[in-house]
Amino acid sequence: MGYYIDPTYLLLIIGMVLTLIASARMKSTFSRYKTVRSASGLTGAETAQRVLMTAGISDVRIQPVGGSLTDHYDPRTKTVNLSTDVYSQTSIAAVCVAAHECGHAIQHHIDYAPLNFRTALVPVANLGSSLAWPVFFAGLVFSLPILTTAGIVLFALAVLFQLVTLPVEFNASSRALRMLESSGILTMEENAGARKVLTAAALTYVAALASSVLQLVRLMLLSNRRSRK
Ligand SMILES: [Zn+2]
Repeated sequence: MGYYIDPTYLLLIIGMVLTLIASARMKSTFSRYKTVRSASGLTGAETAQRVLMTAGISDVRIQPVGGSLTDHYDPRTKTVNLSTDVYSQTSIAAVCVAAHECGHAIQHHIDYAPLNFRTALVPVANLGSSLAWPVFFAGLVFSLPILTTAGIVLFALAVLFQLVTLPVEFNASSRALRMLESSGILTMEENAGARKVLTAAALTYVAALASSVLQLVRLMLLSNRRSRK
């Protein structure tokens, strides 16, 4: 049959382009607002402290972690972990990231259902993303439709996780914006910048989901084509 270009590659390429655009946009927005100092002069750590206090949360610790883009809230240890840059800097970007991670702490505090669902999905999604391709591929090689279908289902579990991630991330950011506004940490003008930073970050999750959905469609097309032969 020789070499031919698999037309379903187009789906992968579209997904890659979307991911690249979203991450480039996020990088440029972040690097712009990393250089803009907030008028209040609060660091990321101080922002987190104030946001948690305003939300009435006293049992969450704030600590610095190494690396960049390593910021996260850990529900097991009840810690807001901020990368060293975010922890100690007073830029709008640092304030935004700190407030966003506190948004997750607030979600945990109030038992926000999508966060619990997302946490419960973690092991399932890990299993799905590590086994989907080998199982699917084995199904193609040995012409076993049951395996290709199993591969698709496994991949769909990983996609479901990304889908549930969206409301969790959007909600953490909208909580962050509301907190920054109501606590007066940022001025009205600065809040417009904060909105841009958090929107750019949220769009990377949308692009990642879109790219995964396209991959899922590709698996279905490949499996369909094989079964029609
Ligand atoms: Zn988040």
